[in-house]
Amino acid sequence: MNYIKKLSERNRLMDSKIVRDSLSTFGVDNLISLAAGHPAAESLDYELFKESVDKVLGKNDLSLMNYSFSNGIPQLREAVARFLKRTQNLEIDSRSVGISSGSQVTIDTVCKAFLDEGDVVLVEECTFLAALQSMQSCKAQIVPIPMDSEGIIISEYERLIEKYDVKLTYLIPTFQNPSGYTLSEQRRTALAKIIKYNDLIVLEDDPYGHINFNDKQINSIYSLAAENVIYLGTFSKSIGPGLRVGFYTGPFELIDQINAMRFSVDVHANVLAQNVVVEILDNERFYTNVKKMSSIYKVRKDIMVEALNKYLPESYSYAEPEGGMFIWLQGENDIDSDLIYKKAINNGVSFVPGTLFTPNKLDGKNKLRLNFSSPDLKSIDEGIKKLSEIL
Ligand code: PMP
Repeated sequence: MNYIKKLSERNRLMDSKIVRDSLSTFGVDNLISLAAGHPAAESLDYELFKESVDKVLGKNDLSLMNYSFSNGIPQLREAVARFLKRTQNLEIDSRSVGISSGSQVTIDTVCKAFLDEGDVVLVEECTFLAALQSMQSCKAQIVPIPMDSEGIIISEYERLIEKYDVKLTYLIPTFQNPSGYTLSEQRRTALAKIIKYNDLIVLEDDPYGHINFNDKQINSIYSLAAENVIYLGTFSKSIGPGLRVGFYTGPFELIDQINAMRFSVDVHANVLAQNVVVEILDNERFYTNVKKMSSIYKVRKDIMVEALNKYLPESYSYAEPEGGMFIWLQGENDIDSDLIYKKAINNGVSFVPGTLFTPNKLDGKNKLRLNFSSPDLKSIDEGIKKLSEIL
């Protein structure tokens, strides 16, 4: 039987094979993976996780095994509101907080909620590949906003909202995936003004904000324009991605819609995991570990930058990130990162080709995403050396 022919056009629109290929290079013998964005093993606090699981199971509470609320258990919604007060000084009513099974499923739900076929969604010139897949599956028109190392260029954003009837803007403004870039304070303020004035909705995805290499607090776009932003957070990077717990907040009317859609998407997040996250967020060791995590990643970023300075051909450039997990290499226009990927695998190193992150594939041809959170220090140096040999 031709199984592929049975699948939907939506499925065919999603170009996911090379994604699986490049991300599956993690943990393969004799291959240094600079591809996957996994957390460093030593950054995960297993002791705290285990203690919290034991505490939750010790309650002998049968509700842990049962169906629950689609917007999350009240204790976690309240704990998230306290967490946002403590970490970002945000005053949020827990009724406007929803608990997700990680951010990706919320991105997918928000796309379904906002985007009909042909609707325009604006995204950063390079962006999170799974979000692009969700938008593609809605048959949306995905329009890239030109950016530089300070994030999207505001005059370009203004030009695009003038040109198109924009339904949604999806942004990862802080320590972006894949570029590592952060939208500057001045541009955040300007953007907040524009979206308020034009009644636009921004989906702000912030999985990396806490992996901050400086002490400088970065204000979310949500904090500047709460009526116009759906803000996504996740515990994938601060506790562990295996738990599949994240959250969303924003204008109550929209959050309520997203909650209602959860029935057809994932019903609700895992109840055991939600209870475990309540315990973890109430423990001071969580905050200590998040700090430790940032310092582990900063050391890795420094080693990668040092290796790039040592080995990288002069025709490549990058901006040093101030947080997050990635460095975005940019080569001359005539290079082909898909071809380089094949050569790199044969030379014992992997990365993710830029074409996977750009709505127009050609825009990513001369770009490569490098991850520094998962490889150890020796592998980072060796990996950059191996990669530079074939660049
Ligand atoms: N958004 C971005 C920008 C990401 O990089 C990731 C994870 N790599 C996600 C969302 C999804 O995170 P989660 O594990 O919470 O689904």
